Amino acid sequence: MASIIQMEAKAITVETAEEQRNFAAEAAVPVIQVQDVHKFYDLGETKVHALRGVDMTIEPGEFVAIMGSSGSGKSTFMNMLGCLDKPSSGQYILEGTNVSSLDKKQLAAIRNRKLGFVFQGFNLLSRTTALENVELPTLYAQMPKEQRQARAKEVLELVGLGERMDHFPSQLSGGQQQRVAIARALVNKPAILLADEPTGNLDSRTSVEIMQIFQDLNDSGLTIVLVTHEPDIAQFAKRTVVFRDGKIRHDDAVKNRPRAAEVLKTLPTIDE
Ligand code: ADP
Ligand code: MG
Repeated sequence: MASIIQMEAKAITVETAEEQRNFAAEAAVPVIQVQDVHKFYDLGETKVHALRGVDMTIEPGEFVAIMGSSGSGKSTFMNMLGCLDKPSSGQYILEGTNVSSLDKKQLAAIRNRKLGFVFQGFNLLSRTTALENVELPTLYAQMPKEQRQARAKEVLELVGLGERMDHFPSQLSGGQQQRVAIARALVNKPAILLADEPTGNLDSRTSVEIMQIFQDLNDSGLTIVLVTHEPDIAQFAKRTVVFRDGKIRHDDAVKNRPRAAEVLKTLPTIDE
């Protein structure tokens, strides 16, 4: 309702052709549109109804924290957003493309082009340096060789790991490994960053450091969807969505959102 009213109000003020184009761009498709999605897992004798009619719209530049107790459907939902799995019914539209109808190869292409993933367990290749880990996704993107390494270095510097590019994962702390994983997720310039419990294996201070990186990335325009079961972590997002029993129970804007950089000043430092 509110959005229709806003759009009408805007439409009245449109005057020049240029303003009209800007208006068209602003009214452009959301990054994510999920409509009446259901997901069943077929376990032979039983069926698990993991998502039970989920609707959600995410606009460019949003920073959404998905919350809910274990088994509420968070990972199932994220796997769908990440094109790792398809809904059993309903629609998932990613930047205007209805991905519900795509085949595996097309899904893989969309994943590589539009999505960056960060997981709880970092998922780095252990015999491979930080730089090589980050460079890996560029192999599948159409990017000249020199550009690939330059881009990998650029994103490692962005996450504060410029000095440690030649380190192997075992030579890095958990927080540093997660930063490598974030750099890897960013290397192909995704439209969305998807993170499933990215701070789940980290201590509190390191978790806030990771949230600082997410807030900075979001400030620069990146759309982020993050799963967490920690309310303190969810508060760093702009919007919290709570799942229960496969449905959305709450969807709220975060009020008085803390800045991770400010919170860090109040936390004791731990030697790495
Ligand atoms: P959350 O991430 O919130 O803990 P999940 O999305 O992992 O929740 O799980 C939602 C429900 O779907 C749970 O009942 C879980 O047991 C079930 N489930 C999740 N993944 C699978 C799977 N691959 N096969 C069968 N059941 C699954
Ligand atoms: Mg989960």
